[in-house]
Amino acid sequence: MRERRFDPTTGEWVTFAAHRQNRTFLPPAEYCPLDATRPGHVPTEIDRPSYDMVVFDNKFPSLSEDPGPPAMPSTPLYPTEPGYGVCEVVVYSEVHEATLAALSRRRIRGLIELWADRYALLAAKDGVDYVFIFENKGEAIGVTLHHPHGQIYAYPEIPPKLFRELVAAADHRDETGRNVFLDVVERELSDGLRVVVEGAAFVAFVPFWARYPYEVHIVARRHAPSLLDLTDPERDDLADVLKQVLIGYDALFGFSMPYIMALHQCPTDDAGWEPMTQFHIEFTPPHRTATKLKYLAGSEASAGAFINDTVPEATAAELRAAVARALAAEEV
Ligand SMILES: [Zn+2]
Repeated sequence: MRERRFDPTTGEWVTFAAHRQNRTFLPPAEYCPLDATRPGHVPTEIDRPSYDMVVFDNKFPSLSEDPGPPAMPSTPLYPTEPGYGVCEVVVYSEVHEATLAALSRRRIRGLIELWADRYALLAAKDGVDYVFIFENKGEAIGVTLHHPHGQIYAYPEIPPKLFRELVAAADHRDETGRNVFLDVVERELSDGLRVVVEGAAFVAFVPFWARYPYEVHIVARRHAPSLLDLTDPERDDLADVLKQVLIGYDALFGFSMPYIMALHQCPTDDAGWEPMTQFHIEFTPPHRTATKLKYLAGSEASAGAFINDTVPEATAAELRAAVARALAAEEV
């Protein structure tokens, strides 16, 4: 069963993908479906003896290009829709134990190229209004496969949280005539209090309004609605800033940091969002200390009102120091 149901009490769609209950859950390393298919071994999902990076359709997709009709009829109170969309898996490396942080800058640069290509290709499909590139990393986030990989969802509408971000950006543009993300970048660079990494084309910082203690946003310094608007040198800089943030995260507590990484880009609904939007990457790691996680409980989960027990200026300083340690370790 795969369908979308409309919640008339919030005005948001919910996707049902009941067949996904049977998907592979934390298989032992020797049965990893994202490894290359080695001669004489059980075939994996990647039918090659070796690979660099690969993209393929998710075997257990939440959204499908051929979803079939909804099981339940659509009514005025309870509208339903087919679960249309695309779900892809991006495998970063054939090395089972690798992480994005462990990849070289050259390989991260290759991943950026791959992301840009998928964004363009999925955006061109009829009925795709938003291309969302993300990675869930670590058991703390609920990953079902350890092998280093990210995902791409092509949605038939702009998802609710991303839509609210765009509405706020549109309001800011109406009031000031300016792009809110560029105003934030300018403000962050003015005193550097919350800056974690400053590159030539990108800046990484803990937001003034961070919801998570070690939340980091990486934002282009010049107006660029999507990856497609970045020049080659800007993509090189993005690879370097991303690498520094990733190795800084791992150096912070001395273990491979779980996180959600989300790329926010211009919607692909051709509705003219370009002037108010801006390409950026948001990292939301669940750790608030090395041993404690931030759980989304009553206030956050039910009221949507985040309470952060840390000070962004202090966590940014910790992250800056962690990046410096990681860079020093890279030199030796
Ligand atoms: Zn693997």
